Amino acid sequence: MRLKDKTAIITGGGSGIGRETAIKFAREGAKVAVWDINLGEANKTVKEISELEGISKAYKVDVTNRLEIEEITNKVIKEFSKIDILVNNAGITADATLIKMKEEQWDRVIDINLKGVFNCGQIVSRYMVEQGNGVILNAASVVGIYGNFGQTNYAASKWGVIGMTKTWAKELGRKGIRVNAVAPGFILTQMTAKMPEKVLEMMKEKSVLKRLGTPEDIANAYLFLASNEASFITGTVLSVDGGVVI
Ligand code: NAP
Repeated sequence: MRLKDKTAIITGGGSGIGRETAIKFAREGAKVAVWDINLGEANKTVKEISELEGISKAYKVDVTNRLEIEEITNKVIKEFSKIDILVNNAGITADATLIKMKEEQWDRVIDINLKGVFNCGQIVSRYMVEQGNGVILNAASVVGIYGNFGQTNYAASKWGVIGMTKTWAKELGRKGIRVNAVAPGFILTQMTAKMPEKVLEMMKEKSVLKRLGTPEDIANAYLFLASNEASFITGTVLSVDGGVVI
């Protein structure tokens, strides 16, 4: 088991990539704190993990709420005694072209995708620094690297996540903490289910592997980066996109 005796927090663990990552981590021996704004969905992840005889617990956490993050981080420490891995996965889209985008759409995406990562990263890393070790993994996107029609807010948030990842790797390396990001391509989850079929078909064609990604493709990347096999990897952005942009 690649994560035996580790404790992991996964934000947005009630759906899509977060749920798949939580299940994979639990299969590999980690105790998983499943954080999500939607407690009902987080509980479904926990139920799936318990059916595999894994250990996990659901917590209602909104990544924009620092008080909630602090309170629940303390609870996780009390219940699991440490935090080895943080996966900053929670994220949303609120698409519109530059001309049509409302300020509220900009603010909401930046608040969750960018400030949410800052909030959780800052609060949890304080514990990791005390421990003298830890792994932080952030959800970027190919859209952050290359841009995408109708996603000014989302692209800005994900490019920002890449900047934070590299900065934290530089600041926290000497404290024993590795920080990396995963940049998924187009992955079949409720997030992409909102996109027109035509766009998804186009993305599939653009991928040199001629398929869209699955949540498991991304969970596998998080697993590798969380494990000791990646012990010399920090400050990197791993694209997992089927070669959609090469
Ligand atoms: P998803 O299925 O929509 O899952 C995201 C989860 O985060 C949902 O359970 C959502 O709850 C939760 N969430 C939303 N706002 C939150 C908040 N403020 N605090 C805590 N949890 C919150 O999305 P996904 O496709 O798995 O994406 C996961 C991550 O990968 C995101 O950061 C996304 O940007 C990134 N990503 C995805 C793709 C893709 O193609 N799917 C590509 C590149 C990057 P609700 O459902 O209640 O909102």
